[in-house]
Amino acid sequence: MRKILLAGNWKMHGSKAMVSALLEGLLAAPRRETPDMVVFPPFPYLAQAQSLLAGSPIAWGAQTLSPEAQGAHTGEVSASMLLDLGCRYVLVGHSERRTLYGENDADVAARYAAALAAGLEPILCVGETLQEREEERTEAVVERQLEAVLDRCGVEGFERGAVAYEPVWAIGTGRTATPDQAQAVHAFIRGKVAYRNDIIAGQLRILYGGSVNGSNAADLFAREDIDGGLVGGASLKAEDFLAIRDAVT
Ligand code: PEP
Repeated sequence: MRKILLAGNWKMHGSKAMVSALLEGLLAAPRRETPDMVVFPPFPYLAQAQSLLAGSPIAWGAQTLSPEAQGAHTGEVSASMLLDLGCRYVLVGHSERRTLYGENDADVAARYAAALAAGLEPILCVGETLQEREEERTEAVVERQLEAVLDRCGVEGFERGAVAYEPVWAIGTGRTATPDQAQAVHAFIRGKVAYRNDIIAGQLRILYGGSVNGSNAADLFAREDIDGGLVGGASLKAEDFLAIRDAVT
């Protein structure tokens, strides 16, 4: 049985005051039954997240990492630094990293491997653009993104990590994939992993991302292969993120 994972990607939003208010808001609304929850603040706020969330059921992680272990890489942040700040998870290959910062499949696979090697739980983001969907290339694109990591890390690389299916056309647009559209791609991803190892595939959490909110989460997460969400906009206010949690518990 896979437990729902609710992940909040704050992107480049926040301030010390906002981080305190948001995390205190999340901590002030406990529930006995809760999905696994993780927030992804920008790097400068990870230490603040660590001091506010340590000992709570909410985990924290980073939005990306360097594939390098250390050295002359100005501006980069390594996996061991993230571990030092108590991170458990790290996002890898978010579509904004791919499109705005030129990360290709090999770069993403290298980052995924670096996270795994350090003991972090990477969440691999995959997904097609609108044009790719309209050209009926969704499966080919997602397969290519997935296989890059499978080839580099082996299927064992997904024993600890997770996948987030995020159709690019649904990110930050208010346009959500229908539960049927999302389920079809999630089943495709699980099938690709199962082809190599069906036990690992059965345990793998595959999150959906793309304009998830308190109104659409329950229908999405009820589908067989949708094991939670990667949430952008609706993770920036405690009440909005909690509305998603409350919709699925
Ligand atoms: C995201 O940032 O990964 C995301 C899915 O954003 P949003 O929920 O705002 O579409």
